[in-house]
Amino acid sequence: MTDLFGVSPEHTSLSETDSVALLDTTLRDGEQAPGISISPEGKVRVARELDRVGVETIEAGSACTGRSEREAIRRVVEADLDARVSSFARGIQEDIDLALDCGVDGIGLVVPASDRHIETKVGTSREEVIETTETLVAYARENGLWVEVMGEDGSRADLDFLTDLMATALDAGADRVCYCDTVGHASPEHTAEAISRLAALGPTSTHVHDDLGLAMANVLASIRAGAEAVHATVNGVGERAGNAALEEVAIGLTHCYDVATIDTEGLYSLADTVANVTGVALPPNKAVVGENAFAHESGIHTDGMLKDDAMYEPYPPELVGRERRLVLGKHTGRAGVRAALADHAIEASEEELGETVARVTELAERGKRVTDADLLAIHAEVQGRARDRRVELVDLTAAGGGPTPTASVRLRVDSEERVAAGTGSGPVDAAVTAVTEALGIADLHLESYHVDAITGGTDAVVTVEIEMSRGGRSVTVGASDADITRASVVAMVDAIDRLVSATDARVPTAD
Ligand code: MN
Repeated sequence: MTDLFGVSPEHTSLSETDSVALLDTTLRDGEQAPGISISPEGKVRVARELDRVGVETIEAGSACTGRSEREAIRRVVEADLDARVSSFARGIQEDIDLALDCGVDGIGLVVPASDRHIETKVGTSREEVIETTETLVAYARENGLWVEVMGEDGSRADLDFLTDLMATALDAGADRVCYCDTVGHASPEHTAEAISRLAALGPTSTHVHDDLGLAMANVLASIRAGAEAVHATVNGVGERAGNAALEEVAIGLTHCYDVATIDTEGLYSLADTVANVTGVALPPNKAVVGENAFAHESGIHTDGMLKDDAMYEPYPPELVGRERRLVLGKHTGRAGVRAALADHAIEASEEELGETVARVTELAERGKRVTDADLLAIHAEVQGRARDRRVELVDLTAAGGGPTPTASVRLRVDSEERVAAGTGSGPVDAAVTAVTEALGIADLHLESYHVDAITGGTDAVVTVEIEMSRGGRSVTVGASDADITRASVVAMVDAIDRLVSATDARVPTAD
């Protein structure tokens, strides 16, 4: 395979297979993480995207959790996806009945595998677990369900018992058995040994957690030992340190081993959706989907990247649905500034470039992030000209607290004044709606929105940084204020002004 950089990576053979199935459990194990609750609408959104990238199975939740959870699972089922939709079920018949009630295609039947779980948690015996598993697998299969048996705490189970348990499950008709490193404690060597015992019996999947930071290593060990499917969650969200991350599994397998899983181009959008519906922000340095994964600031790196895209990246960002970003900061050099200005259709003279670089560096050294707006303002000053604004904020009134947050704005657009009001889920949302309403520009997109408190305390000045795009052009702008709504609107209006000023197009009338 030749990748988008036009180079063929050295592929090591991982196993006999050239494809591995992915079971996504973001909506079940991911939702079990502290503080995460995904609405039924959120679950359907995530499920649709998972289906679009082609995961084999979507574990949509645990039917036994309650009525609203069952409603959410049912809605995922009704979304009529290509992927198999499953529910988690404990080793009791009632859970299987509740799953059946939701109309799922299959279940992940979890039974205790380690003595700690068998004796201390469930209060039963190894013999009884084997017996129950046999009965329940047969029951679920009779009712038309696809069944994967998960041996909970399998990584700390007696390996002979785990093997007997899973052999029983397969004999009773289970479609697949799953090795579970429930507490993320196993080494890749132990994982390989356990998986090879199970894979000798029948179809085997692997479910690992990242408590030791070894999730990905254990996924690879599992596949090498014969696992044909991997459980993962988007962004690695999950209990404690989380699960194996879907995006890491997908890109790692294709890049290093030429093993196909899912359509990787949908990964970034999926990560973004999951960050939104879970409220768990992505760490900037997160592999594949973190903000900095394809960002380059250092002068030498940027210079290298401009000469050859592959210089400081293992694979092109397009492969995971992203774009490369050259970020300005204290390490920025002439090449980076020249490229950033060129993005805004500005060709700077050598003299302007030197002065602009010096000012950018100075700003960054004071600990400030240098946005596109800062760069353009600096360059305009270096050129000795003031910028003509086409869109300006004259006045803003916002009120939250009540049942319907509202906001009204007065804008000066070219030489005319425009007033509009909006409502929203909060004052910021309402103000953004009002601005959009006043301008009547339909093709503006808010790409990202970050808030940082500069100091602690409730009177803190906050900095809002937003990225907006229109057509093929995007711009980042920051604004600081003690009032978060005001900072948001100032940044947004500034961004719109720059996007509008970059074209000759007239701002449409608001009606
Ligand atoms: Mn788990």
